[in-house]
Amino acid sequence: MSVDSIPGIDELVPSRYAQQVGDIEVLVISDGVLPITASTLATNVEPNELAGWLGDNFLPPEVVDWPLNVVVVRSGERTILVDAGLGLEFPDFPRAGQTAHRLEAAGIDLAAVTDVVLTHLHMDHVGGLLTEGVKDRLRPDLRVHLAAAEAEFWTAPDFTDTTMPQPIPNVLRRVAAQFLDEYHGLLRTFETEYEVAPGVLLSRTGGHTPGHSIVRVASGGEALTFAGDAVFAPGFENPEWHNGFEHDPTESARVRVELLREVAASGESLVATHLPFPSVCRVATAGDAFRCVPTVWDY
Ligand SMILES: [Zn+2]
Repeated sequence: MSVDSIPGIDELVPSRYAQQVGDIEVLVISDGVLPITASTLATNVEPNELAGWLGDNFLPPEVVDWPLNVVVVRSGERTILVDAGLGLEFPDFPRAGQTAHRLEAAGIDLAAVTDVVLTHLHMDHVGGLLTEGVKDRLRPDLRVHLAAAEAEFWTAPDFTDTTMPQPIPNVLRRVAAQFLDEYHGLLRTFETEYEVAPGVLLSRTGGHTPGHSIVRVASGGEALTFAGDAVFAPGFENPEWHNGFEHDPTESARVRVELLREVAASGESLVATHLPFPSVCRVATAGDAFRCVPTVWDY
């Protein structure tokens, strides 16, 4: 399917949420939801423990809807798209891949995007750049920022410590390779940190993937962190649970705990890819665990 053929600009729900962080505008856009196997949410605990959490959260036991958020950050002259959603290549996931037309509905022309930031190269974060017609609409001087370790990892990715349903690993391999092939000319890699625009800092965490990165936005005494896949819905109450999509689950848990502690201490806002839209929350500590406290919608 091509991006030109998508209906639905006049959706019932706009699926975008704007939050001002000092002088910087952060827009959370829902790419939609995709069904995932529930057991991937906790691969290192007894099934009944996960079943208990799913039940407590009114989620079905086998397959859960996995929200998928992308973010647009506007700072000064720069319009930065952080992740690109799933794209339209996957007919098994018809409810995701909405980013392109929801950007349009939000008044953001793809040609206005000056920078793309990729938290990592899993297909639900990069697939949207591979949808037919998207690259043609992006500007030729677009800068695509990615940790050098991430680009390197996907030349020979290791799935040894993951627990993903088939055929996901091969699809992830193929999509990442296709991305690196199609976008290599636009890539700007960084080692550990990179300031994309004033107050917009990329920071490599590793863990989920070796080059997994987060985006820290700070302006006028306010701050917001886009955590990508460093934290999932169960990760507040159960930060030590391993997620099946984590390439280094032990390191992922360490990164998660460190990040949640820091965000709890600072009181800044948190947004993450797979938390229910719009996912803007603050983090509270709860003993050794955490709570996600949703921000009031400012409408
Ligand atoms: Zn993801």
